[in-house]
Amino acid sequence: MKALLEVKDLHASVADKPILKGINLTLNAGEVHAIMGPNGSGKSTMSYVLAGRDGYEITGGDILLNGASMLELSPDERARAGMFLAFQYPVELPGVGGMSFLRAAVNARRLESGEDEVDQLAFVKMVRAKAGELGITDDMLKRAVNVGFSGGEKKRYEILQMALLEPNIGILDETDSGLDVDALKIVSDGVNMLRAPERTMLVITHYQRLLSHIVPDYVHILADGKICRSGSKELALEVEESGYTGINDAA
Ligand code: ADP
Ligand code: MG
Repeated sequence: MKALLEVKDLHASVADKPILKGINLTLNAGEVHAIMGPNGSGKSTMSYVLAGRDGYEITGGDILLNGASMLELSPDERARAGMFLAFQYPVELPGVGGMSFLRAAVNARRLESGEDEVDQLAFVKMVRAKAGELGITDDMLKRAVNVGFSGGEKKRYEILQMALLEPNIGILDETDSGLDVDALKIVSDGVNMLRAPERTMLVITHYQRLLSHIVPDYVHILADGKICRSGSKELALEVEESGYTGINDAA
């Protein structure tokens, strides 16, 4: 088994406040891991730290991408190396045309892996095919990134980006929040389509319901900045029944 991402005793602070307090996690190629945990346990912080977002201080430990520390890599370099983060709250980018944004991202990734850039015509075809499967209309594609999109549309658009970028490591932060049942199904089907032997995905969610659509290989419970339990998909059902308090007590 090939470890794509290894998190080793990771400690991180925000505004001098320790949030992550020793996280250990290994994501192997082909695996889907879920992170569950109460609000405020550090789930989003962990995803931001993995993606290299500004404002987070790593105070201990390491993050290895294909065996090499990636702490010195910028968010952009991490993305080009094959890491993708779908935000809990996708940002609107007024004035940034959706198609050129998507194409720039795809071409940056292609250049990094020594492939030719994709031309506009071929790209439009590629996007239309994937967008159709995710219920994303031509009108949405023509607009500026996320501008005027509903919550569900933003989430579908994030999955479209992931489908186009074909990352090695996909991190989805509460992709289910704000989705109705139909949108949840579309998003989950999209994620399931992206399961691949060379890819790993980290699905962060507060609730079990997403995990009945995207069935994870492993489930980890994050509490107060640490993984307090790890298990199989059944652990998610246990959380659903006994809540996080019961899980913490058992740990
Ligand atoms: P989750 O995603 O699990 O709900 P977060 O990672 O968003 O949790 O937050 C973890 C903790 O970090 C919370 O106590 C939150 O208040 C705190 N936190 C997050 N971002 C900041 C920030 N920019 N400044 C201060 N505290 C923060
Ligand atoms: Mg969060």
